[in-house]
Amino acid sequence: MSLNRPMLIAGNWKMNGLLSEGQALVRSISTSPLADHVEISISPPFTLLHALKEQAATKGFSLGAQDVYLQEAGAYTGEISPAMLVDTGCKYIILGHSERRHIIGESNEAIQAKLKLVWQHGLEPILCIGEKIEERENGTTNNVLVEQLAVLKNAPKDAALTIAYEPVWAIGTGLTATPEQVSETHAFVHQTLQSMEMDCRVLYGGSVNPGNAESLMGCEGVEGALVGGASLKADLFNQIISSAAVVKG
Ligand code: PEP
Repeated sequence: MSLNRPMLIAGNWKMNGLLSEGQALVRSISTSPLADHVEISISPPFTLLHALKEQAATKGFSLGAQDVYLQEAGAYTGEISPAMLVDTGCKYIILGHSERRHIIGESNEAIQAKLKLVWQHGLEPILCIGEKIEERENGTTNNVLVEQLAVLKNAPKDAALTIAYEPVWAIGTGLTATPEQVSETHAFVHQTLQSMEMDCRVLYGGSVNPGNAESLMGCEGVEGALVGGASLKADLFNQIISSAAVVKG
């Protein structure tokens, strides 16, 4: 496992942000204090990708999307294809977010089909994995993670990939995993990836905020954060970026 990779602080705006709000938010986000070591990405809603492309690029931020459809093109009303995302300047694509798995009902099979397609288009997936509270409590966290990581079984070994370990019970709830839980689970994720002959960056996500960012990102095996709620408030997101720089500096 190589932990000399740049950290990634990835903001997931979810279904939030009108044009003026998105522009103002990007204006207020600090540029990375350690550009070679801490990368910043934003994933606004599809409607803002084109509009924010230049502004984000000027500040050195990467652009990401929050999902994609599993076909190239055609009669799929309401869907967005990987080529359309490339066209907007996206580098990253969040796949398998728990809100898509558990609210929309997205399956591991669908996620696997999306992975194949986005790699063909040169996008880097941020694949979200994580257990529900009952799974943590009944001791099946690792089984769930192995099942979710199995979507990588036919992945090209050199595929561009970031994993985000996001315990479902910590997303948008204000609850966070303890540093012990994070270190232990990240070690397990890295080990599982290694057994599949893969090695990639693993982020933590789940109620990351300025108060816990430094201790969570300082945990062994954590290489950045996927940030939901706090990425919508520039002052909070900026403090998380600063924490990453402290950890990396
Ligand atoms: C997320 O949406 O991936 C997330 C981690 O949200 P929050 O930071 O709000 O818990």
